[in-house]
Amino acid sequence: MADEHPVRRLQALDLRMDALRAERAALPERAVLAALAEEGATLRERRAAAEDTLATHQKQERALEAEVAEAASRAKGVEDDLYSGRATAPKELEALQTDLASCRARQHALEEEELALMEAIEATQEDLAGIDARGVEMASEVEAQEASLVSGEARLDGVLGELGKTRESLCAEVAPKLLAAYDKRRDNATLAGEILSALDGSDCGRCRVRLPVIEVTRLKEEGPEAFAACPSCRRLVLR
Ligand SMILES: [Zn+2]
Repeated sequence: MADEHPVRRLQALDLRMDALRAERAALPERAVLAALAEEGATLRERRAAAEDTLATHQKQERALEAEVAEAASRAKGVEDDLYSGRATAPKELEALQTDLASCRARQHALEEEELALMEAIEATQEDLAGIDARGVEMASEVEAQEASLVSGEARLDGVLGELGKTRESLCAEVAPKLLAAYDKRRDNATLAGEILSALDGSDCGRCRVRLPVIEVTRLKEEGPEAFAACPSCRRLVLR
């Protein structure tokens, strides 16, 4: 509609540009990247916790290893005593056998404990490997999403750039006073870019509030660039 009032074409263009800017701000890659960043933070926390667990278990395992060796050597000592032939009294032999049994039992219990710990270490190492694999996977997802975001932004920036040029030439067609009043209302969030209204009888076509008679008369007498501010919705009423 080329014959439409230039300020109306300007508003249509601005609304289109607003929609494109909103589309740019809401490109789906942004939400995906935010979710990936959140997952990344969780993953780093999980990794740190697993590293801590692993270090603790490895330390415990080293201590247990020493305890197992000590228990084994103690059992060996008792065993050597038992079979050395030095002890001959049945009571003494019995005591050595009891001692040996308890040494072996302790060694066995410690070995069981060590085994359980080694299994826990293995599980934590697997967990770490899983975390690192996901980390690698995520890095490539982030890369792909970022590339997609950049190309989406570039596409919209291209369209917005073209429309910006159109806007400039359109602005030149609007009377400066009207343009200034229009531009001022672009910042009004309540209007959300719907700045223009049309005179409907003596009313503002948008909010239906009656304009002062003097304003209505002026609008009808002056040229197409004439406008009045609606006393209620603050929109610009064109005739
Ligand atoms: Zn109004």
